[in-house]
Amino acid sequence: MLDLKFLGRGAAFYPVEGNTNAYFEAGGDLFFLDFGESAFEKVYRRFDLTRYGRVYVLLTHLHADHAGSLASLMSYTHCVLKIQVTVVHPVDTVVRMLALQGIAPDFYRYQPALDEDCPVSARPVEVPHAQDMRAFGYVISGEGETVYFSGDSAILPDEVAREYLAGKIARLYHDTASHESAGHCCYRRLAERIPPEKRAGVNCMHLDGDYAGMLREMGFSVVEPER
Ligand SMILES: [Zn+2]
Ligand SMILES: [Zn+2]
Repeated sequence: MLDLKFLGRGAAFYPVEGNTNAYFEAGGDLFFLDFGESAFEKVYRRFDLTRYGRVYVLLTHLHADHAGSLASLMSYTHCVLKIQVTVVHPVDTVVRMLALQGIAPDFYRYQPALDEDCPVSARPVEVPHAQDMRAFGYVISGEGETVYFSGDSAILPDEVAREYLAGKIARLYHDTASHESAGHCCYRRLAERIPPEKRAGVNCMHLDGDYAGMLREMGFSVVEPER
């Protein structure tokens, strides 16, 4: 089972819930999904990063609530722990971002995709979010199942919705906003696509306010970060 755990579930302007960043372990490796401004402190406190075969960070996009403390992680792992973290993002804009923050290319490994021999695969799905930045969700397969992590996305992509409703994707982890906008997925859009009997497998995240109770009443699940 791909057991995603969450460091937070908040939107960029709702920091009381932390950043919507997740992680899971597979085959002795550790995988972070995004690494926002509040992630480094939590990871520093909770993880021994040296006990994993490899540590990966899969990035959905470069907004600060998704990549804001990545540079601190890269400095720390290179200079203090002496390990090399692998950063995965379909486009190499992250390399420029890190270079401007003083992170040399040899501090880490950049790859557009996971290694072939990795215990999981992550298929990027480009999603609409910001006009000036590309953003991706990931269809992640491993440990005998497939899940989808949206990052920030205005929509649930048709192909992902079809695969979920057909049972090929076990769970969705999806941006669920309280209101309509061009950048995030309002809960009403999810409700239009997902009938009530299928909503328990939709794990809402990136909340911009206090409406988790309403989402549960509608039949959705809501991610619960570890405190
Ligand atoms: Zn965000
Ligand atoms: Zn964003």
